[in-house]
Amino acid sequence: MISRIECTNLKRYYKGDGTKTIALKNVNLRFQKGEFTAIIGPSGSGKSTLLSLIGTLDSPSEGVITYDAEEILKKSKGKLADFRFQEIGFIFQQFHLLPTLTALENVLTPLFSRKVPYNKLERAKEVLKQVGLQDKMNSLPSQLSGGQQQRVAIARAIIHKPSWLLADEPTGNLDTETGERIYELLKELNEQEECGVLFVTHDPALAAKANRIITMKDGVVLSDKVGISI
Ligand code: ADP
Ligand code: ADP
Repeated sequence: MISRIECTNLKRYYKGDGTKTIALKNVNLRFQKGEFTAIIGPSGSGKSTLLSLIGTLDSPSEGVITYDAEEILKKSKGKLADFRFQEIGFIFQQFHLLPTLTALENVLTPLFSRKVPYNKLERAKEVLKQVGLQDKMNSLPSQLSGGQQQRVAIARAIIHKPSWLLADEPTGNLDTETGERIYELLKELNEQEECGVLFVTHDPALAAKANRIITMKDGVVLSDKVGISI
């Protein structure tokens, strides 16, 4: 279980036809597992890029990310996939649920073709209960509200007991009240499961409730502050 992530001189640029977009200019950050960190900043400031890099979905153009002092990105694709499976859960603004599968089946998808030392079906039911959807296990995404669909996505993200939850604008498609409830759920998971949460949001009111607030602008960290910490 990874307890410390360290980003050193992280840069990420994209080259096009004679153009170069700099998504991250130079980022230096450390994260500890128990933390609940909000990442805010205007659109295009590099928040999603940072999360993709930390989640090993993307590689930096320059710089290093270490996980408990190890450079995981140097591993083979298969090893990287295993690392993500063991350590990381992703949640997105678009819930990315498979429309023809029930809530229960959607939650089970990360375990497909994986060997795990527990009963998959029991575990899927357990996480759906944890997110408050025990009565909706057999519903299709189209039969669920936005908040409920995001809860299914959260259950899917935690089914394999990751040590880090990376959430990219998880409340971006939800109304304020539903967004707050999703925030509270992530906070609960952070406290009960002791997983680190990186929570990208546009909403300053939600960000203010985190333990730590990182503000990004134009590919750099503008500020890194202790939050109100509810
Ligand atoms: P944020 O999440 O803060 O909105 P992003 O990390 O998505 O910011 O994007 C940062 C910058 O990098 C933006 O200018 C964006 O257009 C650019 N960018 C992101 N992904 C790509 C890509 N795959 N190809 C080209 N440019 C990209
Ligand atoms: P939650 O509070 O579970 O996160 P919401 O606040 O989005 O979810 O929705 C509150 C309730 O309204 C839901 O539990 C559901 O019964 C109902 N609801 C809202 N939108 C829909 C929808 N598109 N389809 C079915 N039920 C809905």
